[in-house]
Formats: sequence, structure tokens, C-alpha cells
Amino acid sequence: MARKNRRMKTAPRELPRDGAVYWGTQVQEGPSWSFGEPYMVRQMGSSAATKFYVCPGCNQNIPPGVAHIVAWPRDVGGRGDDRRHWHKACWDRR
Ligand SMILES: [Zn+2]
Repeated sequence: MARKNRRMKTAPRELPRDGAVYWGTQVQEGPSWSFGEPYMVRQMGSSAATKFYVCPGCNQNIPPGVAHIVAWPRDVGGRGDDRRHWHKACWDRR
């Protein structure tokens, strides 16, 4: 399921220092309204953030260039149309 076609020039679990796209996808417990449903979670690097997003945790914008979290319910499978972009702080207190 996980795609492995990323170029692996750095250690897989190392946070990108240059704003590289992201490292890996993790499964974490979803936000409170998901009743603990497993969510896929990605760290979006600052250079990969090129649009405005609305964080569902606080309903504020996440402007381009701000590293943040992308999360979606694991069980949507390949559809991927339920992705949400979160501030890191908001995800941490979801
Ligand atoms: Zn937020």
C-alpha cells in the first residue's frame, strides 16, 4: 500500500532540514470526532506547502511555506479525497 518510489537520499525517519517534501506516512489515532479511527499522517515540509489550506482544528489558514500535517482516515483507501491539512500544534491537541 505504501508507495516506495521516493528517492531516499536521507535516512527515512530524519526530519527534512531543507523543507523537503515529507518523510514517511504514519498511522495515528484520528481527531476527537473520528472516535479513535486510525488516520494516516504525513508531515508536509515547508517547500511542499504551496497553497492555502484551512486547518480543521482551528479554522484558520495555513499559508504557503508553512510546514504542517496532512491527515486522512486510513480506511478511505486509495480515494484520498478526505485529506485535511492541520497545523502541527492543532493536530497535537486534536
Ligand atoms: Zn490550526
